[in-house]
Amino acid sequence: MNKIEHIGIAVKDLEASNALFSKLFGAPHYKIEAVESEGVKTSFFKVGENKIELLEATKEDSPIAKFIERKGEGIHHIAFDVDDIEAEVRRLKAEGFIVLNETPKKGADNKLVAFLHPKSTNGVLIELCQEI
Ligand code: ZN
Repeated sequence: MNKIEHIGIAVKDLEASNALFSKLFGAPHYKIEAVESEGVKTSFFKVGENKIELLEATKEDSPIAKFIERKGEGIHHIAFDVDDIEAEVRRLKAEGFIVLNETPKKGADNKLVAFLHPKSTNGVLIELCQEI
């Protein structure tokens, strides 16, 4: 794994949160992108070299809707940049981590992504992402 690619934060109201985080960071989001397959709408902020992703559910059975129902708004996942996501998925599976999608899928921000179940990572949802 290389570096933290971004931190994902689950929010109820993307528009309100975009305004809030713009105030916090002193700069607006630089893009909004929907990921239909996941039922989410995302926005991205740059903070120096770091990226923050806000995620809002666009349907009731979206993983973000379920997360907010269980835990409320807050940090949802930490994403790590990897060079070869398929090799990394194989490696982590062999190490005993539970990979939620063994075949990487297209995520937001032009990335191939795979997730590790929080059950196998001390309660933290981990996203692996590889630039496409
Ligand atoms: Zn993410």
